[in-house]
Amino acid sequence: MTDGATFAIQPNANPIPASERAVRLENPGFGTVFTDHMAMIRYQAEKGWHDAQVTARGPLSLDPASAVLHYAQEIFEGMKAYRTPAGDAVLFRPDANAARFRESARRMAMPELPDELFVGAVEALVNIDRDWIPAVEGGSLYLRPFMFASEVFLGVKPSSEYLFLVIASSVGAYFKGGKDAVTVWVSSDYTRAAPGGTGAAKCGGNYAAGLIAQAQASENGCDQVVFLDAVERRYVEELGGMNIFFVFDDGSMLTPPLGTVLPGITRASVMTMARDKGVEVREQLYSMEDWRTDAASGRLKEVFACGTAAVITAIGEVRGTEHGFTIGNGGTGPVTRALRDELTGIQRGTRPDPYGWVKKVG
Ligand SMILES: *Cc1c(COP(=O)(O)O)cnc(C)c1O
Repeated sequence: MTDGATFAIQPNANPIPASERAVRLENPGFGTVFTDHMAMIRYQAEKGWHDAQVTARGPLSLDPASAVLHYAQEIFEGMKAYRTPAGDAVLFRPDANAARFRESARRMAMPELPDELFVGAVEALVNIDRDWIPAVEGGSLYLRPFMFASEVFLGVKPSSEYLFLVIASSVGAYFKGGKDAVTVWVSSDYTRAAPGGTGAAKCGGNYAAGLIAQAQASENGCDQVVFLDAVERRYVEELGGMNIFFVFDDGSMLTPPLGTVLPGITRASVMTMARDKGVEVREQLYSMEDWRTDAASGRLKEVFACGTAAVITAIGEVRGTEHGFTIGNGGTGPVTRALRDELTGIQRGTRPDPYGWVKKVG
C-alpha cells in the first residue's frame, strides 16, 4: 500500500536539453508541449493503491481489452502550477481538485484516491518539472491528473484495476490570438447533461458527447458552445468546459445552480471573491428568453465564462439557430476585468491571498 510520502522518483535519463526546452516554451500554445516526467499510481482491488512513482514520460502499453477502451470508465482533473515573482512554483486550491476527483470517481463507480496521494503526485511532478513553467505572460504549467479502468475484461461491471496518472503541459493563453471576448453558439440539437446523469462528474465521456456540438459551434464561426438544460431546453447550463456568469446593471451576478453543471473551482472562487466585495451572487436558473431580453434592454451588462484553462473570458456575442445578439459593446466589461485581474493576481502571487488558496510546492 502507498501513502503520501512514498513516491519512487526515477528521473528521466534523457531529458529534453535546456536549449530545446527554451525554444518550446517561447510560444507554447495549449496542450502540445509536454514535460519530461509523469506520475503514476496503480490500483488493484485486492492490493489497493500501490507502486506510486515518478518516471520519464512515455507511452503506455495497454491490452486491447482494457476496460476503458470499451466502456469509457475514465475521469480527469485540470489544474495549473504558476511561477511567482519570487520564483516559487505554486498550485491553486489543489485540495479542491482532489475532493472533486473523489466525487467524480464515486459517480463512475471507481475507487476514491486519497487526497494526500492526489496532491502528492501533482506536487512530485511539479517539483521535478518546475523548469517547464513558461516565463511568458499568462503562461503556466497545466496539470492533467486522470484515472482509467485498466482491467483486461470485456464484461460490463466496474473494473477491478485502475491506473492514475499525472502529466503536465506548458501552456500560454487558451484562446488563440488573446481574444478580448469570445462568441458562443447556443446548441439546439444537443444537450450536455441530464438529471441523474454524469454532468457533475469530470469524465471524458461528457466531452466525447459534446464534441459534435462544439464542432457545430466552430462551423458557425463561434469559439465555444453553450448547452441548455436537457429537460426544457430552455435554461442556460454552461459551456463545453467552462461555467458561466451574468452581471446585471444593479451590480448583482447570477450563475446557474449546481446539479447538472460541473462544479467549477473557478466558479466557486469567483462567487467567494464577489460576495466578499458585497456583490449579490444568485445561483439561479436563467432562460434563453431572459438572456436575450436582458441583453436588449441593457439590464444585462456583462457575461463571462470561467474555468482553469481559459481563466475568466468575456462572452461578447451569442449566436444560434434562433439567436443572434451582442452583450454590451461586445468586449470585456469592467466587472469581468476586475475579477480576472484579482483571480490571476492571487494565483500568480502578485496580489495578497486572503483565502489561503495558494500552496507552494517544494
Ligand atoms: C473542468 C470544467 C469546468 C471548469 O472547472 P474549473 O475547476 O473551474 O476548471 C467547467 N465545466 C466543465 C464541463 C468542466 O469539465
